Amino acid sequence: MPRELVGAIHELPLLAAPYSPWETVVTEKLIFEISSPGRRCVRLPEVDVPERPLEELLPLKLRRVNQPRLPEVSELDVVRHFTRLSQLNYCIDTNFYPLGSCTMKYNPKIHEDVARLDGFKRLHPYQPYGQVQGILQLQFEFIDMLKKVCGLPAFSLQPSAGAHAELLGMMIVRAYYEKKGEARNKIIIPDSAHGTNPASAALCGFDVLEVKSNRQGTVDINALMDAMSPDVAALMITNPNTLGIFEKEITEICRILHEAGALVYCDGANMNALLGRMRPGDMGIDLLHLNLHKTFTGPHGGGGPGSGPLGVVESLRPFLPVPTIELKHGTYMLNYNLPDSVGRVRPYYGNIGVIIKAYSYILAIGKEGLPRVSEAAVINANYLKTKLAKYYDIPYPEGCLHEFVISARRQKELGVTTLDIAKRLLDYGFYAPTIYFPLIVEEALMIEPTETESRETLDAFADALIKIAEEAENDPELVKGAPHNTPVGRLDEVKAARKPDVRWGFS
Ligand SMILES: *Cc1c(COP(=O)(O)O)cnc(C)c1O
Repeated sequence: MPRELVGAIHELPLLAAPYSPWETVVTEKLIFEISSPGRRCVRLPEVDVPERPLEELLPLKLRRVNQPRLPEVSELDVVRHFTRLSQLNYCIDTNFYPLGSCTMKYNPKIHEDVARLDGFKRLHPYQPYGQVQGILQLQFEFIDMLKKVCGLPAFSLQPSAGAHAELLGMMIVRAYYEKKGEARNKIIIPDSAHGTNPASAALCGFDVLEVKSNRQGTVDINALMDAMSPDVAALMITNPNTLGIFEKEITEICRILHEAGALVYCDGANMNALLGRMRPGDMGIDLLHLNLHKTFTGPHGGGGPGSGPLGVVESLRPFLPVPTIELKHGTYMLNYNLPDSVGRVRPYYGNIGVIIKAYSYILAIGKEGLPRVSEAAVINANYLKTKLAKYYDIPYPEGCLHEFVISARRQKELGVTTLDIAKRLLDYGFYAPTIYFPLIVEEALMIEPTETESRETLDAFADALIKIAEEAENDPELVKGAPHNTPVGRLDEVKAARKPDVRWGFS
């Protein structure tokens, strides 16, 4: 592979060795533990107006009985404490996230600047459309770009995330068949699908039918034909699928569904594999969502705002959410007059900040940049996959697109599981890949390097995984006890998620 093709498309400073956040701060006390009685950040001057009794200002029943237990600290204590905590934060600006399916790529800072321009940031969503022509024009033009990139004639920018768009897609499918007077209650979903797909279909009241993948990791056409019936409303397919494999039979799959009067929904969360090279609309897809917070550089993780535009074919346009943005006689207007619309799925304009960033990204890289994104994403994934092939089982050894899945089956025989490997990676300063997904691969690690990482970062990550494979053979206890270098060891993750205790000091 030519060297110049491997690596980042953005010029990022190269780190010789990955920076480990754990080295900066190893122990940080709770702010209550550094509290010292009587210490204050700010001392207010004496009041120079007549005092009034508190009861006059605040009814007794609203006042707390006991003083709150607040930490007593100086301003410098506060600044240092929170700065150190922020340094413990693992983030894309400090480290690499090889998180399969999640596309944790670099978020260029210029898009943040654009989204924060006064002209955007000072808008109010209730301003009449005559005063906000700029933001309406931006959305109108952005939809136009998405139409061209995806080959679909209509988009809604309302959904707040991928899963939200899936739900909207299912609502549109339901409305479409209700209008046609057809009772179809089944959605077919391959077993390699993202977990949100069956959840969205079920939430919308459909029955989910799973079809098995074949040995190549793609949809088994015979199994699909067996699953077909007049009750099938749609197929939800991810292409490339969560194994990082392109569904080569996609046009045939769409033909089978369409012939039976059913629709095809494509989960396009990971469009960075196809950008500028292939258009889902040309494959026969009827509905498609994109994740602006993945492919189009919106920051995500930590539950930040997302955006999941939904695109549809012409026959489904009447069911899109209201309002749609239309250009009439040189003025952008909001059209609420869509009698068959499924309604609104979000107030105002959706997560407009993320939309501005994605718009700015497409403008910045241009038509020539789009295919370079998919090129680098695919080359980076294949580069890593090839480097790891000797050390881990690769259940689907052929070339991949933007991501791939390896298996720790071999290491499990030595007593080291995928979870242990993921924890050991933290010791080496790497975020762990997606693990135990997709479910069809035993001891799965699903890795997506993305197009924005440099060859040096990919090499350092591969070296860490190779070292861990060697440790599994020579010193399995070391891996099983990981992480050793992080501020806390292994947490009870289920308990931490279900019963978080954040009340310290506020008993
Ligand atoms: C991330 C992802 C989703 C869900 O998107 P959210 O924005 O997290 O709701 C759905 N499908 C695939 C393939 C994904 O990678």
